[in-house]
Amino acid sequence: DGPVIIVGAGHGGYQVAASLRQAGFARRVCLINDEAHLPYQRPPLSKAYIKGSAGPESLMFRPEKFYHDQKIELIAGRAASIDRAGRKVHLASGETLGYGHLVLATGARNRLLDLPNANLPDVKYLRILDESEALRQIMPSKTRAVIIGAGFIGLEFAATARIKGLEVDVLELAPRVMARAVTAEVSEYFQARHREAGIRVHLGVQATSIEAENGKVTGVSLSDGRHLPADLVVVGVGVLPNIELAAEAGLPVAAGIIVDEYLATADPDISAIGDCALFASPRFGGSLRLESVQNATDHARCLAARLTGDKKPYDGHPWFWSDQGDDKLQIAGLTTGYDRVVLRGSPANKAFSAFCYKGDRLLGIESINRAGDHMFGRRLQALDRSITPEQAADESFDLKSALA
Ligand code: FAD
Repeated sequence: DGPVIIVGAGHGGYQVAASLRQAGFARRVCLINDEAHLPYQRPPLSKAYIKGSAGPESLMFRPEKFYHDQKIELIAGRAASIDRAGRKVHLASGETLGYGHLVLATGARNRLLDLPNANLPDVKYLRILDESEALRQIMPSKTRAVIIGAGFIGLEFAATARIKGLEVDVLELAPRVMARAVTAEVSEYFQARHREAGIRVHLGVQATSIEAENGKVTGVSLSDGRHLPADLVVVGVGVLPNIELAAEAGLPVAAGIIVDEYLATADPDISAIGDCALFASPRFGGSLRLESVQNATDHARCLAARLTGDKKPYDGHPWFWSDQGDDKLQIAGLTTGYDRVVLRGSPANKAFSAFCYKGDRLLGIESINRAGDHMFGRRLQALDRSITPEQAADESFDLKSALA
């Protein structure tokens, strides 16, 4: 009984509210939004939005009328604390909201660079719309960008900055780009493609200082003694899940807010979803915290189903994408813990997929400019089927036959 209060109006928070209404949920639904925009899509912030000139409204999931019509109360503000005994959320504004069920969809925030000068205006991050907008505004007046971190966001931005005519250096501490997320084959392909585009990719190095004059960035020094001139620094060194609200309320947290396979915290009246949630996964064994639209959206749907009487463990199939210059990377499954990688197609032709196996078991597929392979991978996962490494490598093997 009582209202559903959702903290955080990002991908997960928005989707819980929308799915609740879709399922006919009749009680009060409030979405606490600490950003000064209607709920919006985050992926374009480092892709189409930063490249183009479309306004912020192009990113919104729904116009304001939707929330009004659906009786989803958008409450501007920040949740400051939870009173579990009294089933109340206190907002920073002083307002208090009682809940029947509380959803923590607080996402993650930028990991900040711990270097002097890192807080100068020419040092930017890319997580929220306001940051993407700020970058888009200053880019035309900049000539040399140093990007710290070669993860998805750093590389997506690097490709765009280069297309916009900036000189671009990317620094990465690991020996290859996107090392935590993709196979060496895919890293190597992207390293080569970014270098072909004129981006200087520096591997195995760290930024040791940011130099500035009169409050303006002039360059970045590296751990190998080199110095790169720059008038813009973009930091993409990962995120930290927003777990503090839960932790301060006495809920168990680790590398995320700990939830069971139903996405419930230790308190049955509080759930956590999306980037902030460390969830028990019977399918993958152990606990997972994922940062993807699929994860946030499917968590939201699973939770909305539970709150409307259809209780099932969360069993989503992970997938992800990243657009970098002219290349589209798509990942189906979780490609970690593999012991064998089989390529289908050819990197030289700029279209291939890396099928990742553990023993005979297909864990996932990383596809570059092969949307068909990606869709195949998602459908195969949904059917809980596999194909052999030999079939994967054989381009004459008809993938569709495995789905029949
Ligand atoms: P978020 O969308 O981060 O939303 C959390 C919201 O909660 C935020 O608005 C935050 O301000 C708010 N909040 C936090 N604490 C409070 C509080 N106390 N009170 C009120 N509000 C609060 N994923 C993909 O699958 N593909 C992509 O190509 C892709 N590209 C991306 C590009 C960028 C630039 C970024 C930043 C992310 C990208 N992602 C991508 C990841 C994806 O956007 C996230 O996984 C997804 O947004 C997670 O949804 P969420 O609801 O858990 O968190």
